Amino acid sequence: MSRAPNPALEDLHREIRACRACGLHAGRTNAVPGHGCHDADIMLVGEGPGYHEDQQGLPFVGAAGRFLNELLARAGIKRDEVFITNVVKCRPPNNRDPQPQEISACKEYLLAQIALIKPRAVFTLGRFALATLVDERLTSISRVHGKAYRISGIIYVPLYHPAAALHNERLRDTIVEDMSHASALLRRELTEGPEAQPEKAPKAEPKQLGLLDVQ
Ligand code: SF4
Repeated sequence: MSRAPNPALEDLHREIRACRACGLHAGRTNAVPGHGCHDADIMLVGEGPGYHEDQQGLPFVGAAGRFLNELLARAGIKRDEVFITNVVKCRPPNNRDPQPQEISACKEYLLAQIALIKPRAVFTLGRFALATLVDERLTSISRVHGKAYRISGIIYVPLYHPAAALHNERLRDTIVEDMSHASALLRRELTEGPEAQPEKAPKAEPKQLGLLDVQ
């Protein structure tokens, strides 16, 4: 991990900040392309910017972001060593769910970020990132959280969204455990290679994503 800026990624983020490809552009203060290490081993993908993220142009800076920092620290992961982004880069009004056409319009940016950063693992946070990146048939995070999916050489681990777990003690314990498991999984991948992974079989066969087609 060099921590050097990636000019192609910076160009992409400039494009995102000027994007008007879906209606969400109209209500944004700032687009939120993502933030973190440009050649991170781990990417985290949430749902969309909230109020504070929209104001600051940065992902996960509110209460859920503070909880995410705590989760990463407890799993032995430094926030400045990961890259954090969302499925949609502009805030949905009143924090409503992103609509299918908005996710579809923004998906090309997310796939391009993955292709440029080339992470070893992507932790999806919540059901929208799960359905967008792992399998659109997987709409219930409670059935697949903490499992590992290998797609085009990248390990995908679905996790609950930190905002959902923030005020729910049972989900807090679950996401802490899942994040630690995912971190250990990646450490084994980096030291022992792909042969040892994943240790849990997915319940549904994930579709293959043409990640490298989106450059
Ligand atoms: S949400 Fe994505 S597709 Fe829609 S305007 Fe923002 S950057 Fe463009």
